[in-house]
Amino acid sequence: MDLIKEECGVIGVFGVPQASYLAYQGIYAMQHRGQESAGILSSFNGQMCVWKGMGLVSEVFQHFDFDKLPGSMAIAHNRYSTTGGNRLSNAQPLCMETRFNMVGVAHNGNLINAGKIRKQLQNQGAIFQTSTDSEVIIHLLSRNREKTFEESLKSALSKVKGSYCITAMSNGKLIAARDPWGFRPLVLGKIGTGWVIASETCAFDLIGAEYVREIEPGEIVIITETGARSIYMDRKERSSRCVFEYVYFSRPDSIIFGSNCDKIRREMGRQLARESPCPDADIVVSVPDSSNTAALGFSEQSGIRFEIGLIRNHYVGRTFIKPDQSDRSLSVRVKFNPVKGVLKGKKIVLVEDSIVRGTTLQELIKLMKDHGGAGEVHVRVASPPVKAPCFFGIDFSTKKELIASRKPVEEIRKFIGADSLKYLSLQGMLNVAPGGQGKYCYGCFSGRYPMPPPKHFEKTMMENSC
Ligand code: 5GP
Ligand code: MG
Repeated sequence: MDLIKEECGVIGVFGVPQASYLAYQGIYAMQHRGQESAGILSSFNGQMCVWKGMGLVSEVFQHFDFDKLPGSMAIAHNRYSTTGGNRLSNAQPLCMETRFNMVGVAHNGNLINAGKIRKQLQNQGAIFQTSTDSEVIIHLLSRNREKTFEESLKSALSKVKGSYCITAMSNGKLIAARDPWGFRPLVLGKIGTGWVIASETCAFDLIGAEYVREIEPGEIVIITETGARSIYMDRKERSSRCVFEYVYFSRPDSIIFGSNCDKIRREMGRQLARESPCPDADIVVSVPDSSNTAALGFSEQSGIRFEIGLIRNHYVGRTFIKPDQSDRSLSVRVKFNPVKGVLKGKKIVLVEDSIVRGTTLQELIKLMKDHGGAGEVHVRVASPPVKAPCFFGIDFSTKKELIASRKPVEEIRKFIGADSLKYLSLQGMLNVAPGGQGKYCYGCFSGRYPMPPPKHFEKTMMENSC
């Protein structure tokens, strides 16, 4: 069986003509959450219509006639899985005929006990159509005895462990659910008399929806013609919001866990400058685009000028860069080019949001020095060392591929060829994150998780970074 780890974006639209088109725009805005496949499922007069495919949203829906996805309700999904799992049958939303008629589900997250449940169900004769953990939820809800779809979903979700943000449709209802730990973000919005649910508010901005609030951990929202109401999971868990959403994953223009991501990310950069200044540097440069906001924070705090010293090519397709390690240097060169006039002879603070395998910086610093003429490159990382895999939806490599799990900081510095290397402290990061330490999962930095990770959980390699 493929073990699939997903970092995805989900959306649900209710009560809006041509809902599928808004859902399309929403996943377009959330493209950063998953570039491997995209899909939209619409509901019309009790029927469901689906279109999904491998690739970017713009590729999957190129020249698409949205009349083929009719109705005033739709859910959509974009997915970023890794090796093995990248096939069309695993693209979401999933859609199945159940005792609740047609049911559609889109899922962002990772269920750590899905493999075990799947095996049990298969032993009882269940037939699975995909190798996703998400399908387990549909099996569980179609098997229990609850009378309504939402109670049945609640019962199914009480059996799974891990992270999930779900948008689902059945019998004219749009339903959204967030796991009791609250790992991944999920927000509720209004659009005219209709409703929208999405992973990130940047999806609302594009379609002109108004942000109402975050969906609470353990909350199940049911939206019908008469409005939105909520039921809650019985289980209460310690709040475990993924701090990496603030570090890297979410778009800075989104409201994440109730706060502006830009503000928090910038503050991480400021905190980094307070903890590890580089007083006589000439300029601050970011590794675009993911480090731009943290680099601005560093620059503001330190008073050192922010300069655009690296240009990122935004049109690098997935086919150009192969996911294997063979030509990392070319992958980095095609993505980034140094601005010689900015870098030449300068002492540079290079701000990076995170180091995973260390390969980006290794190539980049070489490029900045050899081709850009940079004098000194002092790396400041706006997060602590990534030491452990994530089991809850961010696709980190196996432990041995994480450079910080194998090498001390000084060794990493030598490996990447930096003149100095400093990371943001764990405490510094958690002090900046709203609500503090008790609210977050930071297992990738500490190796301690909100629940015991499964024993045999293979982590596959991280795909090309973005
Ligand atoms: P490295 O080259 O060290 O393996 O990866 C670090 C780079 O990847 C950083 O520029 C960071 O912005 C980006 N990155 C961090 N986390 C992720 C992730 O989960 N997925 C992808 N695709 N890129 C990431
Ligand atoms: Mg980056």
